[in-house]
Amino acid sequence: MYKRRRRLNRNGKILVCVLAVLLILLIVLIVRGCSGSGEESSGQNESSISQESSLPAGSSEEPSGAESSETPESSAESGESSGAAESSTAEGSAASPSAEDWRLTLVNNTHPLEDGYVPELADADANGHQFDARAADALKEMLADAREAGLSPIICSAYRTWEKQTSLFEDQVAVCESQGLEGEAAVAEARTVVAYPGTSEHQLGLAADIVALSYQILDEGQMETAEQQWLIEHCAEYGFILRYPEGKSDITGVIFEPWHYRYVGVEAAKEIMSQGLCLEEYLGQAE
Ligand SMILES: [Zn+2]
Repeated sequence: MYKRRRRLNRNGKILVCVLAVLLILLIVLIVRGCSGSGEESSGQNESSISQESSLPAGSSEEPSGAESSETPESSAESGESSGAAESSTAEGSAASPSAEDWRLTLVNNTHPLEDGYVPELADADANGHQFDARAADALKEMLADAREAGLSPIICSAYRTWEKQTSLFEDQVAVCESQGLEGEAAVAEARTVVAYPGTSEHQLGLAADIVALSYQILDEGQMETAEQQWLIEHCAEYGFILRYPEGKSDITGVIFEPWHYRYVGVEAAKEIMSQGLCLEEYLGQAE
C-alpha cells in the first residue's frame, strides 16, 4: 500500500508537471497569438487607412482629368503617373478659371463679346446704373466703404447695352474726324479711347467707371483724387482691379484709365493689383 501510494504520488507529481508545462505552453501561445494578431490587425488598419486615403485622391483625379481633357497636353501628362496627375491638377485648377470662370472673361479688341450677350443685371446705385447681378453687391460694398472713409465716389458708367456702346463709339469717331483724321484712321484712333461695340467690358456688365464727385473728368487728373487713391489701394479687397493701368496700353489696347474698375473676384484681383499686372498678362493672353 505504501509503495503504491508513493507511486501514485510520483505519478501525480509527473501529471502536475506535465499540466504545468502544458499550461505554460498554452499561456505562451495565447500571449504570442494575441500580439501576433494585434500586429496583423494594426497592419490591416494601416493598409485600409492608406486605401481609404488613396480613394479620395483617386476620385479627385477624375474631375481634374475631366477638366484637363480640354487641354490635350495636361491630359497626356495625367496618364503618365500619379505625380504627373497631381501636377496637372495644379495646372488644371490654375488654367480652368481663365477658361470657364465668368469673373475672368477677357473682353478686348481681340476677344469680342459673344454676339448679343446680356448679363443678368442688378442696380448698382440709385442713379440707374446697372451691373452684373453676381457682382453688384461687391461694387456697392466697395463704394459704401469708400463713403464711410469720408470720400464721395460716384459711378458715371456701368453696364452698357450694345446700342449705347455703338452710339458712344460713333460719337468718338466723329470727335476724331473733327480733329482731322479720316475714315479708317478716325476709327482706329477712336478705338483707343472708346471700345468698339462688342469689345467693351461695360457690355460684359463687370466694369464700372468711378470718379470723384468733386472731379468728374475722365483724364489722368482723376488719379490725383483722394477717391482714386483709396480705390486703387482697396479695390482688390472687393474683387476689383484697375483694368487699364499706366504703361500697359500696348497690351490692353486702351489708354491709362484711372477710373475704369473691373470685377474679377478677390483672389485674381489681389494677385493682379499686387503684382502690377493687367488682365491680359494675368490670363497669359498678352500679345
Ligand atoms: Zn470704362
